[in-house]
Amino acid sequence: MEWKGVTAVTAIVVLILTASFLAYDDTQQRQNVHGRNIFINETLSQLEAETMRADALNATVSARDSLIMELEGDISSKQKKISQQQVKIREIEDVAQQQEEEIQHLREVQASLQEEGKIIVDQWDATLVLYDNVDIYEKQSPFMEIVKDNPISYNKIGIPFIYFRDETRSVENGVILGSYSTLYNYIYIYKDNTEIRTIYHEIAHIIYQKMFAPSPSNIQSWKGLYNDLKDASLLSTEYSKTNEIEGFAEEYSVYKTQVKDQPQAVKDFFRQVDDIMD
Ligand SMILES: [Zn+2]
Repeated sequence: MEWKGVTAVTAIVVLILTASFLAYDDTQQRQNVHGRNIFINETLSQLEAETMRADALNATVSARDSLIMELEGDISSKQKKISQQQVKIREIEDVAQQQEEEIQHLREVQASLQEEGKIIVDQWDATLVLYDNVDIYEKQSPFMEIVKDNPISYNKIGIPFIYFRDETRSVENGVILGSYSTLYNYIYIYKDNTEIRTIYHEIAHIIYQKMFAPSPSNIQSWKGLYNDLKDASLLSTEYSKTNEIEGFAEEYSVYKTQVKDQPQAVKDFFRQVDDIMD
């Protein structure tokens, strides 16, 4: 831009500024009024909108009122349905929570498997046998070797792995020796375990889960025998008295290890169970 042009532009700007300054007061007031008008208009349209919303809400409320009146007749059955639904929702939440925990466990197992040299991996038919370290292997593998000698194959119930962990699992009234996944059928045996029976106890839980839980007639046949044994004080262990599911696990573990003599009916029952699996 030329120098003359710049001067001219500057002059024009100065003129505009001066004019603006002179007109400032008046403009400011007019703008205030204008601003207030806009504000009032906005408030009015907001009010209108609010009124319309209130009307709509009123209509909804009265519609709901009449709906409630209609429903009042069979409200108790409705309530029953709702509470059933709530129970179902809670069950689903429980399963989701459990699933999340199980997936977390599986991730941990995968992570330990990737840590080369840390975990000891063995195999038993289709089941991986994992030991956290040499100490755990030395202590627990003799029990597992005896289970491996068992002629019954558990491939049918599909146990992905049995994991002997270097971990004490404490609960309120002591320590847990083993646990199993109700979703993925794997077994954990903890470091405080000193018995073969624990492994069979957990295997029995998976047998129950797979062969009994889905079959009402199987459940009935076990429950019948269990209650007879309980009434006659013929259950093998104190823990067996807990309930028919723990009873199943306990009695099966005693049957497999023969640590105690059991009534013939119990032996016959579990022979059938083993036959189905073979
Ligand atoms: Zn148990």
